[in-house]
Amino acid sequence: MNKQNDSILKELGINPGQANEFDGKSSKELLNQQTQLDVELKKLELQDRLETMASKKRKFDEKKREYEAKNRQLLDELGRRAARQRGCSHRKGGTTQAGSRDPLPAQGGDAEKFALIKFRLPNGDWWVNCQRCGAEWFPQDSFTGRPETIIGGISHSQVLMLPTDNTSGESSQFGLEDNRSSSEIERDRWHPPVDENGNEVRDIRALPPGAGSGRLQPPAAVRTH
Ligand SMILES: [Zn+2]
Repeated sequence: MNKQNDSILKELGINPGQANEFDGKSSKELLNQQTQLDVELKKLELQDRLETMASKKRKFDEKKREYEAKNRQLLDELGRRAARQRGCSHRKGGTTQAGSRDPLPAQGGDAEKFALIKFRLPNGDWWVNCQRCGAEWFPQDSFTGRPETIIGGISHSQVLMLPTDNTSGESSQFGLEDNRSSSEIERDRWHPPVDENGNEVRDIRALPPGAGSGRLQPPAAVRTH
């Protein structure tokens, strides 16, 4: 065993006095072997990194598909609700087909009276809600300028006049003062929803039943700024 060999063994934490697997090998051989091991180790690390990346990519793709499917379901459900609200008579009464799970027909009833709940909000505005389809009507928002709700061609001011024998509700009324500066008023101002190209998106829930063409889409999210 030569001196050079000893120093390498020491570096490796091996007592040169003891017999070991490196005995009888030259420093050159050991260095070659070390280089080879180093290369193998690097290959292993690279492979591990590639596998980790592939696994992350798989998980990402999986999650992405999951969210996309969920999003489609949500949009479909919103579309179904919009269609239902447009097609609803908002009336009481009506009979459902025998064996149907719904106690009442989805398109609303045929009675004189409307299945509407009218509730006075703290600011004095009337909120109207159909018990049959869940549609909600709000008047024009004096704070943001958002126009009154129109569903299936029926505006808030029209729906508010429809006869119902439901009791109206009311919460405590507050006198709300508007102390906003003109820039704050501008900041809060309602803007019609737009698509990704900046074109105005029609709220086709507003159209009367049968109006418009193509597949019914849910109303676009309202842009607040
Ligand atoms: Zn309704």
